[in-house]
Amino acid sequence: MAAGRAAACGAPVLLLEKKDRLGLKLRITGKGRCNLTNATDMDDFISHFGPNGRFLYRAFSRFFSAELRAFFAARGVPTVVERGQRVFPASNEACHIVDALHQYLDENRVRVQYRAPVTRLLTREGRITGVQTGMGQTLSSPCVILATGGASYPLTGSTGDGYRLAAEVGHRIVPIQPALVPLETEEPWVAALQGLSLRNVQVSLLLDGRLLAREFGEMLFTHFGVSGPLVLTLSKRAVAALAQGRVELSIDLKPALDDEQLDQRLRRELEQSGRRSFRNILKALLPLRLRDPFIAFTGIPPDKPGHQITSEERRRLHRQLRDLRLTVKSPRPLSEAIVTAGGVDINEIEPRTMESKLVQGLYFCGEVIDIDADTGGYNLQAAFSTGYLAGESAAAAWHQWAARDGDADVR
Ligand SMILES: Cc1cc2nc3c(=O)[nH]c(=O)nc-3n(C[C@H](O)[C@H](O)[C@H](O)COP(=O)(O)OP(=O)(O)OC[C@H]3O[C@@H](n4cnc5c(N)ncnc54)[C@H](O)[C@@H]3O)c2cc1C
Repeated sequence: MAAGRAAACGAPVLLLEKKDRLGLKLRITGKGRCNLTNATDMDDFISHFGPNGRFLYRAFSRFFSAELRAFFAARGVPTVVERGQRVFPASNEACHIVDALHQYLDENRVRVQYRAPVTRLLTREGRITGVQTGMGQTLSSPCVILATGGASYPLTGSTGDGYRLAAEVGHRIVPIQPALVPLETEEPWVAALQGLSLRNVQVSLLLDGRLLAREFGEMLFTHFGVSGPLVLTLSKRAVAALAQGRVELSIDLKPALDDEQLDQRLRRELEQSGRRSFRNILKALLPLRLRDPFIAFTGIPPDKPGHQITSEERRRLHRQLRDLRLTVKSPRPLSEAIVTAGGVDINEIEPRTMESKLVQGLYFCGEVIDIDADTGGYNLQAAFSTGYLAGESAAAAWHQWAARDGDADVR
């Protein structure tokens, strides 16, 4: 987006890509469907980024979700809005988003050099002068846009190079850590539930028993712990909390029922199926695969008939349904995170242009900046918006430079 926009604004652009293809990460976003943005209003959108969200206000004011959707529609990729205002290509194919961006590069005659990792930013007297690549090339330019992404899913090319490159020219890097990351849990019984997805549950994040956050939605058990949209959303706070104490997840399997209603439901189940065993009755209350852990946790003999279950046992079952507890051990590694938190300090980037406040002619966009958001299309919109703004700002700077001391060679 940055390269295309800079070229559309009249600058000669060379895009240096480390891999042999562009947009490898983009192709796997949204489980291959690409949740490219969200149709909510700007204030709500920005709130999904936490305190750093305000940095994006200028970029979003310039190019937001409506403009992004129009951009893709104009290139033959109409979009649709789904649950939670998430926006996807109508074709459900992330590769169509990549194709449209390729088309944008072609329309504006951006040259692309593949297998060309940038290894160094070149500066002189506080100005960018060019870059060096891994093949020993030195390329001169008065403007460079750093769009190297984060440090997760490194096979897609985002290996965190941008953090080092920016630090070498003096930028402060807010320590990077996984955000939107699956969580490893301590309980051994979890592994047996691998693949089980729970819908319409509520999960509370607890630090030393104190409530930190609560989310409603869908989660997934894995061989190491838990994942799924709800867990990913809670994960950044869970990672931060791990440094402070014991972190737990409390799963409420019946969030739609208040305590009174849940108690009535349990009484009904136990009375109606009086002669059936506890094991059988659980079928009506739980996903099948949760039955064995529940029998163990409640301590109720599996063969005990419903009508013999005591009120104390019923209360234990009630508590378990409300509060299935998991202890968080650690996040999965950064390489498995959907997004990298941390990055180039926003205080050192001019939000109206995306230019570095330290190095003239250097611009940043996307995940390399210290911004990250919940799932829902927010992260990609931030990358597109900051890319668009960085592209046109760099082009404007290039025009000024060309008018002042540019020479024909650069064109
Ligand atoms: C599995 C998965 C699913 C996701 N799904 C969604 C989703 O549905 N919606 C959403 O909003 N977000 C999603 N995200 C997050 C989103 O993909 C990223 O936030 C976004 O791609 C960041 O864009 P970027 O352009 O900054 O970086 P990237 O997309 O990571 O692109 C960086 C590019 O820079 C290149 N590069 C890196 N270093 C160098 C170098 N030294 N020299 C030259 N080139 C270099 C890389 O090869 C790559 O092409 C998902 C992420 C993952 C991992």
